[in-house]
Amino acid sequence: MRVDVVSLFPEFVAQCAAFGVVGRAQERGLLSLHGWNPRDYAPGNYRRVDDRPFGGGPGMVMLIDPLHDAIEAARAADPREAKVVYLTPQGARLTQAKVRELAAHPRLILLCGRYEGVDERLIEAEVDEELSIGDYVLSGGELAAAVVVDAVARLQEGALNDAESAAQDSFEHGLLDCPHYTRPVEHPLGHVPEVLLSGNHAEIARWRRMESLGRTWLRRPDLLDEQALGKADRALLDA
Ligand code: SAM
Repeated sequence: MRVDVVSLFPEFVAQCAAFGVVGRAQERGLLSLHGWNPRDYAPGNYRRVDDRPFGGGPGMVMLIDPLHDAIEAARAADPREAKVVYLTPQGARLTQAKVRELAAHPRLILLCGRYEGVDERLIEAEVDEELSIGDYVLSGGELAAAVVVDAVARLQEGALNDAESAAQDSFEHGLLDCPHYTRPVEHPLGHVPEVLLSGNHAEIARWRRMESLGRTWLRRPDLLDEQALGKADRALLDA
């Protein structure tokens, strides 16, 4: 997939995407990341990208034209249709289900705001979807864009090695993941649960499912509300 980032600091997102699974996804040709700086499309010596808000008040607002031209340049760089996403605390909360949906798009353009945000008219004209990474306010959209890039990149086929498979991750089945253990079996901090050493795959699967359900029930009962539990799950929870 191709992701274009429209930002005053596109290098910031590129740096975040240079390591680990996401860096490898780029090396493997599964993700191509491109930055577009609205300042490059701003006229004049000062290359101004912001101005004071109409109506007064603190802060600055990002100008329409440099953002518009940067988005159009990004669109024109590839013939495939792009979905334009504005990262904003006012957007719908990003979830794993939304990440899966975005990861299936061949092209995304991620728009990062700064200051008080972006002129509303640009959002109305150019943006397909507004997404938030949580109920807090960041100084810019770059960290949020990096979160989206990371989450979609690891879902590209071939990005994860088998050992890192996403299938059992939290939220993939509406539940939190089970706990994990590795060597040594004995450690001053504790012993590995016996069932994981048993070689009994059915029992291990049952234990994992039970741990997932239990954790979700304790930590994120809201997820269980959304999930239709099967008979087997009810029996595990009642046990
Ligand atoms: N005045 C805006 C508001 O209250 O909705 C906040 C502007 S914020 C200081 C600057 C930029 O950071 C935003 O335009 C947006 O791109 C980004 N941003 C801040 N918090 C975010 C969040 N929780 N999720 C996604 N992007 C965020």
